[in-house]
Amino acid sequence: MANWHRLRKRVHLLCFAIFLALPFLNVVRFDIPRERFYFAGQELWIGEFVVVFFTLMFLLFLVIAFSVFYGRVYCGYLCPQMIFSEASVALESRLRKFCMRRGYGPAARAAFYVILAAASVFLAFVFIAYFVPPRDLIHRLLSLDVRTAGGIAGATVTVLTFLDFSLVRQRFCTAACPYGYLQGMLGDRHTLLVHYRDPEHACIECKKCVRVCPMGIDIRQSPFQIECIHCAECIDACDEILARLKKPGLIHYVWGEHGPVAAGHRQPWDAKRVIVLLVLLFYAGGLTFALATRHPLLVRISPDREKLYRIGADGRIYNRFRYSLANRGSSPAAVAFSARDLPGAQISAPAVSLASGQSARGEFDISIPPGHTALVTHFTIDAGGESVPMTFLAPSEKP
Ligand code: SF4
Ligand code: SF4
Repeated sequence: MANWHRLRKRVHLLCFAIFLALPFLNVVRFDIPRERFYFAGQELWIGEFVVVFFTLMFLLFLVIAFSVFYGRVYCGYLCPQMIFSEASVALESRLRKFCMRRGYGPAARAAFYVILAAASVFLAFVFIAYFVPPRDLIHRLLSLDVRTAGGIAGATVTVLTFLDFSLVRQRFCTAACPYGYLQGMLGDRHTLLVHYRDPEHACIECKKCVRVCPMGIDIRQSPFQIECIHCAECIDACDEILARLKKPGLIHYVWGEHGPVAAGHRQPWDAKRVIVLLVLLFYAGGLTFALATRHPLLVRISPDREKLYRIGADGRIYNRFRYSLANRGSSPAAVAFSARDLPGAQISAPAVSLASGQSARGEFDISIPPGHTALVTHFTIDAGGESVPMTFLAPSEKP
């Protein structure tokens, strides 16, 4: 007899640890002030369209694939809203019992609010750390900052968290969360469901499955109720009650309303599943390729054509160029410029040092000796491991 409740609580604990770790280890974090997106430890710049595109599409199709295959298991096992809602309900109930036993009944509510207030500050801190550097956030928290945008956001999220987990809780899932409605569109006849099956009329009407349901529904009425989060609490309850009568439980995870029971059977496959998996693999492959071929040093060089060329006092012919550099890597970098395939070229740009995350812009001249007669010469500028094709303009006649 499976114990889904125990498994779910273990998964909740793991998810909580991951929720805490992700922003601090830069596994997934969107740094709004610095306009950076962190994924799997890589610092991505918002301008890195290809990597950001593949990352977002991969995450989107991961959610879609999960919904097609496993229905709303995400809601019951992985969703932070559900995890913290259940934790707050459990905390309130335990405090009430604890205080009642000692004759301090009214103190239970006050104790609950105090603990929830502290937890709200902590959760809001972790949540905002997904968007603001954690070190910066600690300073704002310690200085009780409620004037800057970050401070106001932190205070607002703290209040919303407190109200959410004291008043709203699982009502959010049916009233506001779009995922449940999305699931209705993504699921099909083979998607995982929690289903009541009683062909032999063995139900003893104990209603324990209804009493344990965190969403307050009766799974016996339909497996397609929008409130059902596939948490399997009703499966455990029915298994336990009927086991006392030496009968099997009547509620199961199944592969679709008319499909086999999930335990011991594989999910039936169809074209839709193959396509979803192929699309997911495509985006995973694209993301891997984009990350593997990504240059940590961004080099952009363009000619300044406000003036096509300039003849210097020394008689040399000068062209001006603009550069834009960005060090997207985790270690410092130095960029030196050189010109190739341009006879006699001299370059006026000094080497540029860039700390991790730093950008720089500037200009430099390239000059060639007098006597050059070609109007346009194609050549290459080498900088920071990049080779940039460029053109050099000169008067068509001898200067
Ligand atoms: S727990 Fe099982 S036996 Fe009891 S009411 Fe629910 S389905 Fe029927
Ligand atoms: S009906 Fe069962 S699976 Fe659905 S939410 Fe209630 S307890 Fe969880």
